[in-house]
Amino acid sequence: MQRIVLASSNPGKLKEFGALLADSGLEVVPQATLGIDDAEETGLTFVENALLKARHAAQASGLPALADDSGLCVNHLNGAPGLYSARYSGGHGDAAANNAKLLRALDGVPGNQRGAFFICVLVLLQHADDPAPLIAEARWHGRILEAGRGTGGFGYNPVFLPDGYEQSVAEMDDALKNRLSHRGQALVKLREGLRERYA
Ligand code: IMP
Repeated sequence: MQRIVLASSNPGKLKEFGALLADSGLEVVPQATLGIDDAEETGLTFVENALLKARHAAQASGLPALADDSGLCVNHLNGAPGLYSARYSGGHGDAAANNAKLLRALDGVPGNQRGAFFICVLVLLQHADDPAPLIAEARWHGRILEAGRGTGGFGYNPVFLPDGYEQSVAEMDDALKNRLSHRGQALVKLREGLRERYA
């Protein structure tokens, strides 16, 4: 089985990637188990940051590396929190504070102007100097609720209502979320790319 290193240490994402790649024929090793720390995310776009993370993990491990960068972009806020989704309120990964800040920023904004999307960019590098990475991107459209609902998952799940659904992401079960989500859909595309490349 081909081992690849996963350049993420977010437990919510590790769980989702584990489920989504369970039948992929790849053995996915989280970078932390190899003693690899997080890369500096100095890019100005999601794709730049995903490349930086994958290159860092491939360089440190000598293995192919898969990295993602993801976040929430709110139309009314010109794409914020965007690249800063994890640390929108200051502290990295403080979901309750991030959600509270987002709801404050949209206070009084009517429902039809609360459109937003989650985005996920995945990058697979065969090695640190790979000049032709596989790149897959997907977006999950919806809107920001007036108040959080549900407790499942992580991040902005309680405040995001996907188009076509009555449940917030935090009210969905894992299987449904994984099927619909930006990360799930980006992985479907990545797997198509892998099949084409290695057919
Ligand atoms: P990253 O770890 O730099 O990709 O940061 C992504 C951040 O975007 C996370 O910490 C969350 O705040 C947010 N985010 C990305 N994907 C999701 C999701 O599926 N649900 C909720 N929040 C998400």
